[in-house]
Amino acid sequence: MVWKLANYIGPIPTLEEVKRFHEVEKLYGPYIDSKTQRRFMGLCINGKLKRNISVGRLNLEVKLGRKLLNYEEADHIDEDKYNDNPNNLQILSKVDNVSKSRKNNTVRRDIGYKIIDFNCDYCRLPFKIKESQLRWKLKVAKFGVFCSTSCSNKGRKR
Ligand SMILES: [Zn+2]
Repeated sequence: MVWKLANYIGPIPTLEEVKRFHEVEKLYGPYIDSKTQRRFMGLCINGKLKRNISVGRLNLEVKLGRKLLNYEEADHIDEDKYNDNPNNLQILSKVDNVSKSRKNNTVRRDIGYKIIDFNCDYCRLPFKIKESQLRWKLKVAKFGVFCSTSCSNKGRKR
């Protein structure tokens, strides 16, 4: 994964705000993940990067005044995942978030979830794939990522 400093103008939480919910001494970023285009802040303790948290998640925590639980996701109300403005953020459980995106029929190529709806590169129909598997396939696949062996065979011949 390649990280670069984000050319990002928008609300980002201050160190004092993040300290209310997380063990942190210094904030790095925001950084942008070159693959998903998502923006993250790095939480640093004793000169070491401890974890990365998305700007949306941190902004939502500051808005709510509490830490998000593991199964809670920062949902972008307008479906624009780059709009990390606090008033565009709400809590959704991971399951809700996936079904919301399916209902709105958006193509999810972002890989923030455990199970992802991905559109087959041959038949274009959505299928479910594990985040880790997709991450790996996107890296190594020469011809695309396919829903089935038959689509894979056809996709390779094109
Ligand atoms: Zn297919």
